[in-house]
Amino acid sequence: MHTNGQTSSSTPFYRPVGDETEIFHAAARRGVPLLLKGPTGCGKTRFVEAMASELGRELITVAGHEDMTSSDLVGRFLLQGGETVWVDGPLTRAVREGAICYLDEIVEARQDTTVVIHPLTDHRRELPLDRLGTTLRAAPGFQLVISYNPGYQSVLKNIKESTRQRFVSIELGFPPAAVESEVVAHEAGIDAVTSNTLVRLGNAIRSLEGSPLREAASTRLLILAGVLFAEGLPLQKAVRSAVVQTLSDDPEIVRALGELANAVLGQ
Ligand code: ADP
Repeated sequence: MHTNGQTSSSTPFYRPVGDETEIFHAAARRGVPLLLKGPTGCGKTRFVEAMASELGRELITVAGHEDMTSSDLVGRFLLQGGETVWVDGPLTRAVREGAICYLDEIVEARQDTTVVIHPLTDHRRELPLDRLGTTLRAAPGFQLVISYNPGYQSVLKNIKESTRQRFVSIELGFPPAAVESEVVAHEAGIDAVTSNTLVRLGNAIRSLEGSPLREAASTRLLILAGVLFAEGLPLQKAVRSAVVQTLSDDPEIVRALGELANAVLGQ
């Protein structure tokens, strides 16, 4: 679990791609919960960090995983020095403090986990703490944001419709080339010509017909290639390590991606 607090003095760099900023602000004013849809590494987390900072709210981030239970979110009794003491989970802290709670990849968690968020996502804005026999009302400023990668969709791992319809949805895809190039140049600290080349490669991989890849080449991967280049590696090597080898273990696919990379890089 990763928790971080952002202050408005250091707003993270975020380049809007569409009307997501406007929607976030409107939802935040009314405490409406948000669902961010989009592939891994397209900027969902960075977007929430930037919004929390702009709004001057604390951000509490929780990464979903398959063993996650409702106690991981809400809290549990722990034995401390011979006594049992209640320790708030990250969701409970966010509810008490009026923070933004970002549940990243919530579908990974067991289904009973999502049920605890239901009373927080309607007019009640309440979190029942069954173990303590109390119910908390969410402090002003509390907002729930969850993320979801539709590419991973499967029968088992899907958001239940009854959960989903409680959220306003924002779709975030990979940014248009000009924006993505600016992002890659900024984040990696590289020149515009190189970042344009990396983005061209990213888009070439993304538009492969019948792609056998589990995930598309993300903005994050292009930034990683840029970082290696900024550290002095030739671009071809940087791309091989950060993009080609990361996207597949299959020797045939690695070879094909390598050829595509060479073609785009003009080697
Ligand atoms: P996700 O949460 O969707 O997996 P991240 O928010 O971690 O993705 O994005 C990966 C990286 O890509 C970020 O750390 C950031 O450097 C960069 N990034 C992606 N989109 C943008 C954007 N629109 N503006 C600024 N940075 C971005």
